[in-house]
Amino acid sequence: MSLLDNLKFMMIAGPCSVESEEQIVGIAKAVKKAGADLLRGGAFKPRTSPYDFQGLKEEGIRLLLEARRESGLPIVTEITGVRELPLFEDVDVIQIGSRNMQNFELLKEVGRMGKPVLLKRGMAATLHEFLMSAEYILAEGNPHVILCERGIRTFDDYTRNTLDLAVIPLLHTMTDLPVIADPSHGTGIASLVPPMALAAAAAGADGLMIEVHDHPDKALTDGEQAVTPDEYAVLVQKVHAVRKAAGL
Ligand code: PEP
Ligand code: MN
Repeated sequence: MSLLDNLKFMMIAGPCSVESEEQIVGIAKAVKKAGADLLRGGAFKPRTSPYDFQGLKEEGIRLLLEARRESGLPIVTEITGVRELPLFEDVDVIQIGSRNMQNFELLKEVGRMGKPVLLKRGMAATLHEFLMSAEYILAEGNPHVILCERGIRTFDDYTRNTLDLAVIPLLHTMTDLPVIADPSHGTGIASLVPPMALAAAAAGADGLMIEVHDHPDKALTDGEQAVTPDEYAVLVQKVHAVRKAAGL
């Protein structure tokens, strides 16, 4: 059994990075009110440049636990290496990011932990590679794996990535694992997040992970792709309407 078993559709929302107590608690309460089921927030951030904000690390995990207490929402946060494992004891869902999708030692370790794992597709990973990475977790006896399509690297750089929505129905023919979409990293542009979220829902996604920030212009990471809590609240209602219209 996992906390996700009773969720028909997983709405995961929160900022790219945990920045302060006020920020994460405020966003947690806002997305909960909007209808989110889980709170996301990065404490350990894998950044392209070593000189960019790397996350609040241990303090970020502590603030997420505080936000969980205040909002009642379970928390999802990314682990970037095996040395961080002891800090994730109280985390509800462990995220493995794109850059670590083939960090096989990390996959085995989180498999042994037995907690739900949100596994993001590598930015150049084939579906076979994606499923084999999930298999590393499953092979440790942990059945609680959620697959996340977050966009792949293609020739066009108009969007941050190319959200590969066809894999949602395709993966459903290949595995019983839930498949969710991340239109925030999938597009990198806030105005594209709601339409692509709706498209993913219509394609049969089992959930959506969306970056939400109360002040996107001041966000320390990924502000350009963050929607506001008000925009998120409108989107949640539309997602339910699309799912209903599609008979899902
Ligand atoms: C994230 O979810 O904050 C993240 C870093 O995503 P990805 O691993 O998909 O780039
Ligand atoms: Mn991000």
